[in-house]
Amino acid sequence: MNTSADKSPVEQLLTPVQYLKGVGPQRAELLERLGLRRAVDLLFFFPRGYQDMSELREVQQLEENVPVSVCGVVEEIDERNTGPGRSMLGVLIRQETQFLRSLWFNQPHMRQKFTVGQRVLLSGKPRLNGLRWEMTHPRVEVLAAGEDPPSGRILPTYALTEGLTQPAMRRIVGGIAELYSDFVEEVFPASFLAEKNLLPIGEALRQIHAPVGNNQLELARRRFIYQELFFMQLALRMRRHKLQLEQRSSSLPATAKIDARIRRLFPFELTGDQQQAIAEISRDMQCEHPMNRLLQGDVGSGKTVVAEYAMLLAVAHQHQAALMAPTELLARQHVRTLSRDLRESRVRIALLTGSLSAAERRTTLEQIAAGEIDLIIGTHAIVQADVQFQRLGLVIIDEQHRFGVNQRAALRQAGLDPHYLVMTATPIPRTISMTLFGDLDVSTLKQTPPGRQAVHTYLGEEGQRAKWWEFFRKKLREGRQGYVIAPLVDDSADLEVQSVESAYENLANGELEAFRLGVLHGRQSTEEKEAIMLAFNSGEIQVLVATSVVEVGIDVPNATLMTIEGGQRFGLAQLHQLRGRVSRGSHPGYVCVYATANSDEAQQRLQAFVRTTDGFELAESDFQMRGPGDLFSLKQHGLPPFRIADLTRDSEVLDEARTDARQMLDASPNLEAEELQLLKQRVLLRYGGAMELGDVG
Ligand code: ADP
Ligand code: MG
Repeated sequence: MNTSADKSPVEQLLTPVQYLKGVGPQRAELLERLGLRRAVDLLFFFPRGYQDMSELREVQQLEENVPVSVCGVVEEIDERNTGPGRSMLGVLIRQETQFLRSLWFNQPHMRQKFTVGQRVLLSGKPRLNGLRWEMTHPRVEVLAAGEDPPSGRILPTYALTEGLTQPAMRRIVGGIAELYSDFVEEVFPASFLAEKNLLPIGEALRQIHAPVGNNQLELARRRFIYQELFFMQLALRMRRHKLQLEQRSSSLPATAKIDARIRRLFPFELTGDQQQAIAEISRDMQCEHPMNRLLQGDVGSGKTVVAEYAMLLAVAHQHQAALMAPTELLARQHVRTLSRDLRESRVRIALLTGSLSAAERRTTLEQIAAGEIDLIIGTHAIVQADVQFQRLGLVIIDEQHRFGVNQRAALRQAGLDPHYLVMTATPIPRTISMTLFGDLDVSTLKQTPPGRQAVHTYLGEEGQRAKWWEFFRKKLREGRQGYVIAPLVDDSADLEVQSVESAYENLANGELEAFRLGVLHGRQSTEEKEAIMLAFNSGEIQVLVATSVVEVGIDVPNATLMTIEGGQRFGLAQLHQLRGRVSRGSHPGYVCVYATANSDEAQQRLQAFVRTTDGFELAESDFQMRGPGDLFSLKQHGLPPFRIADLTRDSEVLDEARTDARQMLDASPNLEAEELQLLKQRVLLRYGGAMELGDVG
């Protein structure tokens, strides 16, 4: 099918794939599975990677460690078990009279790819082993019978679906790129392209699918990575601007008198970082637009007191403040802390969680609506529709990292909007806070309160268990308390209980039989948990055997010991949170983590955990090892995924895009300039819905 002259460029781009050259109804169905319906979808279906065919070599031309591609026939396949869960796959490739052996370790699924006699193309770094050339984990492409190795120089590789081969996909997309690229309208003004050294869109599309060389390919990729990040930065700033214009809040200034009255309540001097955060928050809360601030601080850095300050600032101006915690346990702990600090004041506090009886809930709601309660502390129960505040001035969300760009809407109320403070103890990688949390201002607590002792972290050796327990008992006898974290069990709550119960049984009849133990897990009732926490707080329970429910927020400064079992099952952030439980007082903390490191990744993770206690450093290395993960996925936050940008890799481009977006919007706050209309339209098309930008006029 040819492009016909009487169609507009937009109509051309919307041509259903079925009518495109080399597609037809059958392939159209396959493409549909990849979400590709129209010509334009194929144009923007970027390759996952590339194979550099300019490096196609004969076996006798190979050089040690120089990346190449080699074409040959599968001669022999040999598969071996090399230990529990370990395997090795060797595939011998013949090229005329020469041989190359390719190897895969612990990737049994690779076996299915090969049959003897098949022609394949391998790309990787060769190594000479004795007299034979080998390639470990090369990239493989199976060639159809009689098919020549592809001729272009740099070949794109696309995501595929069953029934669709790489060569076919390449031909289809390559053809479309050639014929349709120029129908795509440029979104950037020419001067902007020139200034930023960006390839024009048509050229960039052609080069990304059929690069003439590495330089052109890099330029093409850079253009799309930049564009993607730039669009998002524009959207975030536009949203911020829009909220600023639309939303009004009460101005709640921290006058000298109020400030002094609040500080008097705290039992300690604030750290410099706490002072700084409080100053930033006070500045925000004085504005008639809502504060939207993220307070990030490592575990134990003292976020609660900053939150307390903000809440009391609202109360000083006869407003209510709500504090939302992720678990009931934590909500109750906050009530305890606040009640202690506020015992001499007239501030009225109420707990609002799912476990209140219907009658209790009704009374509490009435009091909140009547303004008889100043501080409402609770869980998600706070945001339910029937909760009417008399005059809500501030909402604080504790230990929450899901609370990105999109989740604030739920808490808006009629009339004036409250100020918002979100707190997280999982330091957020910089690129994430610039994107998912891009419209939040950030305050950071890096210092820990004075007098804090270091936490020593050990990777436990099975042979040394007795020694560790001996040390554990010695510290308990000195008056300290401790935790034993039972191994995390997959999903099933029943297994989880079993795992804690059996850890408890073993310890109570073994290493810790002389001490008072308690058990804490997710299946217990709220009253049970609360009673156990109180007993642990008071020292009545010396050792808490628990699941990772103690992970967030629990604050018992006298607890300085922790044994973690099954450490390989925990993520780095989780391990760090757990360790945070024993670094809260004036005695040094000791953590011993036992693990059967069943993979390189687990090994690396545990080593990183032992190496540093700096949560920010750990967050970055976790991010580099594993990428953003679920918690920080765009999808989780209701945003469209990136097609090409990668936040672990493209942080420099992100910085640039962010600066540029700010500059552009400073000059043209709503992108109203004539030459930016198309750009604006595209940004809204992509982010308008997800970020509620729809009516940016
Ligand atoms: P997190 O940031 O992990 O939520 P918390 O707010 O629970 O930390 O504080 C951890 C512990 O440090 C608490 O016991 C708290 O009372 C104490 N703390 C907080 N700030 C200070 C300070 N400036 N000086 C001394 N102790 C402090
Ligand atoms: Mg906390």
